This record gives sequence, C-alpha cells and structure tokens, in this order.
Amino acid sequence: MKLITGLLALIALSSFTVDAMASNDYYPGVHILQYHHVSDSTPAVTSITPEQFEQHLKYLKDNNFNVVDIEQAATWVDEGASIPAKTVVITFDDGYDNVFENAHPILTEYNYPYAVFVNPDLLEAHPSAYMSWQELKTIDAEGATIVNHGQTHAHLIRRKDNESEAQWQARMKQDVVSAQQAIDTQLGEQPKYFAYPYGEYSPALEKLLKDWGFKGFAQHSGAWSQWSPTTAIPRFPASGRYANLETLAVKLNSLPMPVTHYTPADPLVSHSETRPTVTVELSKKEGMNTNALRCFAGSDVLEPHWDSEMQFSVTPKNDIPMGRSRINCTAPSTSGGYHWFSVALIRPDSQGNWPD
Ligand SMILES: [Zn+2]
Repeated sequence: MKLITGLLALIALSSFTVDAMASNDYYPGVHILQYHHVSDSTPAVTSITPEQFEQHLKYLKDNNFNVVDIEQAATWVDEGASIPAKTVVITFDDGYDNVFENAHPILTEYNYPYAVFVNPDLLEAHPSAYMSWQELKTIDAEGATIVNHGQTHAHLIRRKDNESEAQWQARMKQDVVSAQQAIDTQLGEQPKYFAYPYGEYSPALEKLLKDWGFKGFAQHSGAWSQWSPTTAIPRFPASGRYANLETLAVKLNSLPMPVTHYTPADPLVSHSETRPTVTVELSKKEGMNTNALRCFAGSDVLEPHWDSEMQFSVTPKNDIPMGRSRINCTAPSTSGGYHWFSVALIRPDSQGNWPD
C-alpha cells in the first residue's frame, strides 16, 4: 500500500493523462493481469471479489481495451509485429474452483478469453479447492487456455539441503515437464507457458525452461514487450491490494520501458545484501522524459544516478524486506502515461528461507 501511495502521489503531481497510446507504435506492449481467487470468502491478499472483478472487466470494455488470447499476444510479441494499442491478457494462477464459479460466467458474458495456470498434483489432491479436470475441459472449450504452474506449487529456486545441481535439475524437470504432460494428456497439447509459483525464478531455472521450450511468466509488474526476457515475462498483479481500479488504470495505460540489460538478473540476493543496487540499461529514450525517471522501493522514492547516457542505477535508502519485494521504476511518456519497469528481489533469512 505504501508503494501505491508513493506512486500515486508522483502521478498526481505530473498531470497524468490516459492518452498513452500515441506511443504504442514505438513502444508496443501487452498488459497481462494476474489474478488468483475471485471470491468474497478467500484470503484478501490473493482475492478479488466478484463485484470488483466485474468492475475491472467493465473498465476494460468501457475504455476499449482489446482482451486477447495469451497465444495471440505471444505471437505478436515474438514476431515483433505491431501490437494493437490497449492489448490486455487476463490470467489466473492456481486454478481455484471460485474461478469456475464466479469469474468464468462474467468472462463469458464479456466474451473475454483468459488463461489459467494450474498445478496438476494439487488439483487432484484437493478437489474441493481447485477446478477439476472436467471443469478445466469445460472452460477450455469455452475460450480459456489451460497452462502450467508446476506440479506442486513449490518454491522451485530454493535448494534442498545437500541437493546437487543434477538432483535439483531432475526435481525441476519432474515439477515442470511432468505437469505439462499431465495437462496435455487431459486437454490435448497446450502451449508451453509456465507461471513460476510465487513468481520466483532464477537464471538457472530460466535456462532450464528455455532448454525445454517454455516461456516463463513472473509476478513483477510492467508491460510484456520485445524487451521482456522470454523466461521472465512481467505481469501486473490485479487482486488483493492491487485490485484498486484507480491504480490499475495507471498500469493498464503504462508503456514498456525499453530495457536491454539489468542487474541483479537473479532476484535471489544474499541475506546480507540489505540494499542491493539495481542497474538498468535502456536501448532508447525517445519520447521518454528520463529527467523525471524515478524508482520506488516500498514508500521510498529513489532518484536515479545516471552511470552513462543510457544506464542508471538506484540503491534503496532502507533495508529491503525479507522475502519477495520489487523495485519499480517509472518515467513519464511525452505523450502521457508512464514507461514502467520492475525488478524482482528475494531476500532470504539467515537460514535461506522466506515467507510464502
Ligand atoms: Zn500460484
């Protein structure tokens, strides 16, 4: 909430307009929304109520967003074809039963396609909490795409005690590839898209996904574009504290930031790295007011240090929290709206663990 307050204060100061789309041809991007539960009775942090969810869809419709199938969006991004302005993809993680009960009917009414990332082991073990294969087949036939969230929803990047590299790779293959086989067996061949459980990835896991032919979807924010790594595709969380329509509108009207390289590329920093410096290299600046570029860590606004013409760095003023956090950077577009880039960070405790 503090981050949102900081961002909104800045945005209010700089006379935000929703007319960001003039730059879309030059900075094409797809906004992926990420949801979990759609229910009044599930944990607030990962939920949106059915009423709020309908408000989101109504906003998309009233403002002429194009909600497209995730495969269509992937084709546009991969081919570098011009992505139509205001392109949005709707995704759900975990495949909860309330998506079938509460979200699917509203999505059908709006005729919006969507993708659901599922955990085969979990849905088979807990049929009352998750959609069954039969329900997944039903929504698949009615416009949903069923994709991969791993067999078990484990913290994949967390190594087990005394686990060798080869053992870890075998465990990853078991979790990712066997889940895909289960999905393909039930639903016919589905695209090889993997959403990291908890949004947690590492360069080692990214390499495996790439070798196995997968795209990887994460949970740091920003538009999906030609500048996104294919194994660390950003999505905008849109439930819990991110369900607020006002802040969501800012994100939906943002533009990608053309980042060619950034550090740390591995979100998992060491326990002692309490204030990791983030460096970001841009490929172009046209139409971007880089003098007003700012980054945000919690409630702190960070002014960038320009290391060179195209590269800036920021260092948090306070210790980053234990567990997952993000540093978001925004720069106003001269045609309205914001270029947006987010760096995911995971800081473990002294034992190498962190909260769910
Ligand atoms: Zn999940």
